Amino acid sequence: MQFCPKCGSIMMPKREGDKTILVCPKCGLKLRPQGNVRISKKVEHKETERMYVLDTEEIFRGVPRARGIKCPKCGHDEAFYTIIQTRRADEPPTRIYKCTKCGHVWREYE
Ligand SMILES: [Zn+2]
Ligand SMILES: [Zn+2]
Repeated sequence: MQFCPKCGSIMMPKREGDKTILVCPKCGLKLRPQGNVRISKKVEHKETERMYVLDTEEIFRGVPRARGIKCPKCGHDEAFYTIIQTRRADEPPTRIYKCTKCGHVWREYE
């Protein structure tokens, strides 16, 4: 249920074209449902990407090298290897690698 921000009456849903809008029966104010779920998801994704970029030096400091892991960029078969937990607890840990030759960083989800 949505109340009119102008007069406080209960807004009534009404079809307008192929969308459903909310109309106030008292003052006639129209509201369109906010469709910004995708936008906020995109921002979250960008923040995650930025975290990887910023923390790469820190993450790979002192981690062991693993042989037999092929760099997707240069084909070298040795990389630094570590597992990190993203900030969201409901996401699985992420394995990340850094090529010891070209420095390329990539990740794999568990
Ligand atoms: Zn109203
Ligand atoms: Zn490489």
